[in-house]
This record gives sequence, C-alpha cells and structure tokens, in this order.
Amino acid sequence: MTQEPELVPPLPENYSSMVLLVDDQIMVCEAVRRALSNEPDIAFHFCTDPLKAMAVADEVKPTVILQDLVMPGMDGLQLVRAYRKNSSTHAVPVIVLSSKEDPSTKGEAFAAGANDYLVKLPDRIELIARIRYHTRAFLDHVQRDAAYRALRESQRQLISANLELERLTRIDGLTGLGNRRYFDEYLAAEWKRAFRTKGPLSVLMIDADNFKRYNDAYGHMAGDEVLKQIAHAIQTGAGRSNDLAARYGGEEFVIVLVDASMEHANAIASRLVQNVRDLNIPHDSGRVTVSVGVATTVPNENESPNDLVKAADLALFRAKSEGRDRVVVDGV
Ligand code: GH3
Ligand code: MG
Ligand code: MG
Repeated sequence: MTQEPELVPPLPENYSSMVLLVDDQIMVCEAVRRALSNEPDIAFHFCTDPLKAMAVADEVKPTVILQDLVMPGMDGLQLVRAYRKNSSTHAVPVIVLSSKEDPSTKGEAFAAGANDYLVKLPDRIELIARIRYHTRAFLDHVQRDAAYRALRESQRQLISANLELERLTRIDGLTGLGNRRYFDEYLAAEWKRAFRTKGPLSVLMIDADNFKRYNDAYGHMAGDEVLKQIAHAIQTGAGRSNDLAARYGGEEFVIVLVDASMEHANAIASRLVQNVRDLNIPHDSGRVTVSVGVATTVPNENESPNDLVKAADLALFRAKSEGRDRVVVDGV
C-alpha cells in the first residue's frame, strides 16, 4: 500500500467525478482504469471507437472527458470541437491525453476547445488531482447555470403575475369592462392629452332604464345577466381602440371617446341605444332599454374632467325625465 491517496483528498460527495476516456488503445484504457480504481469518488468509462464517443458521452454524462489525439478514422481534435458544439457536452471539461509534447500540438488542442493537456501516460496523482479539479469547476458551473435559470424563470413568473394583477385591478368582475377606478385614471390621462392637442373629448353616461323593476320581476341573478349583455353591447358599440368602456357602478356605465366630436359621440350613443333595444330582453315596459347622456368638450384650464362627467350626468338626467330609451346631448 502506498500513501498516495491521502495526498489528493477526495472531494465531498456531491462532487463525484464521472470520467470518460476516449482512446483507441485498450492498453491505455486499462492503465487509466487501474490508476483510478481506488478512488471511490471517481467513476470511469472508456470508449475505444471515436465514432461512438459522442453517443457514449451523451449517455454517461461525464464530468470530465479524457481525449486521445491520434485515433484511426478520426482526429481527436475534431472530437473536441464536436463536444463543444453538442448541447450535452459543450461545457464538459476536456483533458487532452497525448503522446506528443510539442507546443504546437498543445496550442492546437487548446484552440480546439480543450481545457487541459496531459502527456501519456500521466502520473497517477496528477491525473486524479486534475480530474477532481475539473469536476468541481464543471459541477459548480452547472449549479450556477441552473440557479440563474431558476432565477430568470421566477422573475418571468413574477412579471406576468404582476401584469395579471394590474389587469385585474382595472377590471369590473361582473362585466369584464373597465372599473370605476380605471375610468377615473383613463379620463384624467386622456384629458391631459386632449388639453395638449386641443382635441375634443366626449363622455357618455349610460344607465339601464327601470332596472329596479327588472330585478323585482326576474330576480337579481337574472338582472346580473342582463347587465353583462348590456356591457357587451356597450363594448362592441364603443368603437375605436382608444375608447374606453367602463362600469361606473350599479346599472350605470360610461364611455370615454377620444378625439370624438359631439356629432360622432351622438352617433355612437344612438347606435348603442339601438343595440340594447335589439337585444330584445323582455321587461314589463316591453323590453330592456338604456338612456344615454352625452357631453363633449375641448379640455381647457377652466374645466376639470369631473365637470365633463357632471355634464354627461345632467344630460342623462334629462334623457330619463324626457321618457328614457333615448340620447340627450349636453348643451343641445
Ligand atoms: P331609472 O330608469 O330611473 O334608472 O330606474 P332604475 O330602477 O334603473 O334606477 P334606480 O337607481 O332606482 O335603481 C337601480 C337599480 O339597479 C336598483 C338595483 O337593484 C339595480 N342594480 C344596481 N346594481 C346592480 C347589480 O349589480 N346587479 C343587479 N342585478 N342589479 C343592480
Ligand atoms: Mg337605472
Ligand atoms: Mg342608476
């Protein structure tokens, strides 16, 4: 028994080495196998056919590849380049095992992607030390890589969860339209924009007619279904992509029309009233209808978004008192 093993202490358990030797000479394979046979943390595989080396590497998943240079049928450096391109071996440390010692051969080996170079047959202690060193470097690399990937994935999930959360804070649960809070934000932002561009901004206040009576006759659940249908009609009637349809509260809805003249807003409102009529939902008044109040302004420093909403609300009040199921335009 020699004292050699103590000179190269084994790595901790999680650093076990898996060595793959690719060499056409069975004698070399046997010598290396023997050199490593007393090391419990080093498993050993060899392959004498260079054409099968890649397939064997894919299967045994080495932490270190020992690669011969001169083999029949294939140049060892060709294999080193191939390991670098192959997804399962591209980061696996390669130690070239060669009988040649000249600097130009060494240079070529490193240029091809080798990590280390040993002249055959290497000293046992040196071979074991290098195997352990490269295994540790490789496994640390793999672990870091996996940690980075996990981190990136959890960041991605966090971003999409936040986006979904943000979306939910803007949505009315029953109808899927924007909610009151989102309407307030949206109107304030569009108000500022229209103020700069001196363009018109319109608000449509929409309220279901005699809806209390609907609930009384058909029940609150049926009422909810009607509100969803009205919301759908409002959404499809709102028109352009910059326009926002929202639930203002209860059976009241609102639309912000961007860059819309009074005439355009009036046309949208009239179409909407008709669309709700066309739903043909039975009601003791005949069918379910809505009333709409329209207000348009070019934002200026003497007015606030709230004034525009109030004006639309007043127009809605007039539509109600003039008989419902109709549009009233503010100031007309
Ligand atoms: P008007 O034509 O004057 O608007 O009459 P109205 O009955 O619609 O108005 P009112 O303000 O007196 O009553 C509103 C009704 O809308 C009462 C309430 O039960 C109903 N409502 C409000 N929110 C909801 C809801 O989320 N679901 C259901 N099903 N009904 C609702
Ligand atoms: Mg109502
Ligand atoms: Mg109401």
